Amino acid sequence: MADSAPLWFDPSLCFIGGVWQPATRGRTLPLVNPSDGAEICRIARGEAEDIDAAVAAAQAAQDGEWGKMSATERGRILSRLGQIVSDNVAALTALEVMDVGKPLSQARADAVALARYCEFYGGAADKVMGETIPYMNGYTVYTLREPFGVTGHIVPWNYPMQIIGRSVGAALAMGNSCVLKPAEEACLTALAFAHLAEQAGLPPGALNVVPGIGAEAGAALSGHPGVQHISFTGSVATGAAVQAAAAGNVVPVTLELGGKSPQLVFADADLDAALPFLVNAGIQNGGQTCSAASRILVQRPVYAEVKARMADAYSELTVGPAAEDLRLGPLISARQRDIVEQFLAQGDDLVIAGQGRIVEHAPPAGAYVRPTLFADVPADHVLAQQEIFGPVQVLIPFDTEEDAVRIANSTDFGLVAALWTRDGARQFRLAKRLKAGQVFLNTYGAGGGVELPFGGVGKSGHGREKGFDALYGFSQLKTVAAQHG
Ligand code: NAD
Repeated sequence: MADSAPLWFDPSLCFIGGVWQPATRGRTLPLVNPSDGAEICRIARGEAEDIDAAVAAAQAAQDGEWGKMSATERGRILSRLGQIVSDNVAALTALEVMDVGKPLSQARADAVALARYCEFYGGAADKVMGETIPYMNGYTVYTLREPFGVTGHIVPWNYPMQIIGRSVGAALAMGNSCVLKPAEEACLTALAFAHLAEQAGLPPGALNVVPGIGAEAGAALSGHPGVQHISFTGSVATGAAVQAAAAGNVVPVTLELGGKSPQLVFADADLDAALPFLVNAGIQNGGQTCSAASRILVQRPVYAEVKARMADAYSELTVGPAAEDLRLGPLISARQRDIVEQFLAQGDDLVIAGQGRIVEHAPPAGAYVRPTLFADVPADHVLAQQEIFGPVQVLIPFDTEEDAVRIANSTDFGLVAALWTRDGARQFRLAKRLKAGQVFLNTYGAGGGVELPFGGVGKSGHGREKGFDALYGFSQLKTVAAQHG
């Protein structure tokens, strides 16, 4: 497959109220292929006026056909959309390879996950129930789970399809109308998804897509008085700004921010089982994964062996154009590559245990970075504390279980953690003590599947997406108390 997949829709338009239209001011932005730095196309540069129109269309959908539709029928539409996405996996994959620079296999996995989100939330839509609550004699009390109304979805560039699936999928299942602002660096699969949603029969206004810059369209959406819930995935700083903007309207926010997720390898671990996960969870998607396992904590008796084996694995890693489906593609942009290289420069005082290589024919204008494994890294080093969002891992030795927990919990983040140990009591003990929204025992899930609630503690954010919990997150509870004697 070529890097330049044909576009089967006009990418320069917004999707508002079921109509494809240019941004009100007619402005556009270039979209760049990170594998070679070439411009793919221009996308709409939506601004406050377009967000106003999208929110109005979403509200109209709430007041119209979509708002009145039964949960069963909403579920059917989502299930149909899941099937249509499945039928279009190859087309979506081609778009993501070109737009995000994902190796083919990763792009395909994301497209398959998008279909699975639609399928899961399609099936779940009519299975969200309230409760009856024992109360005083003469009363019947029950709860209803109701949609918020208009929900805003601000999506980053690293996993557009998966993040759209988990947030828009769950919000639609609960009967909300969505305004989606994809990242300016990666818009194509968001637009394609809207085309597929039209084919599935989603009523106009239930899903609106306004591409644009964060400071313009994103800020307009997060502070819009017509929006009743915001779901944001991205950086800590932008998440805090989105939360502050939403607070002005007293609107709840789900924040899925970064991480510095650890894998803890104890001396009794099955190293053969652990090794592929130790490396892959750090370099998957070029390390541009909020739940990347960027810290590998290893107990001293097996430290030298793990270091040597991970170094070997790194020497096998190749980086190159996304369509070649090597282990790593480019990063999303030259800007992101510069951020990662600045971090690498801060590792000048550290030991490099292993590095991958960039293939010789990689275009010079591509955003390529060599995957790098640092060893013997002090737990308080900047590379062991800050999210890098590139293919960089640090190896940190530890002595006791107590040390391991202290180091694992020593960052501002708490998204995912993994334990590699055969000691069952330790698994349960540490699963409780680790600061993380998800803990994996003898595996690593980088966020896990569609079914598993996902989200962070601390600066990794708050609120849960994925799984059934997301449906609670995208609904609000009403209590009805009837006094009947
Ligand atoms: P970002 O958080 O600024 O962008 C994410 C989304 O927020 C994009 O859609 C963007 O347009 C939008 N946005 C930006 N400014 C906004 C504002 N003021 N109001 C509302 N929306 C706004 O992230 P970035 O600049 O693309 O990347 C920078 C760093 O963020 C990365 O190096 C990485 O550390 C982190 N990041 C994390 C994730 C994640 O999955 N948690 C994803 C992307 C980036």
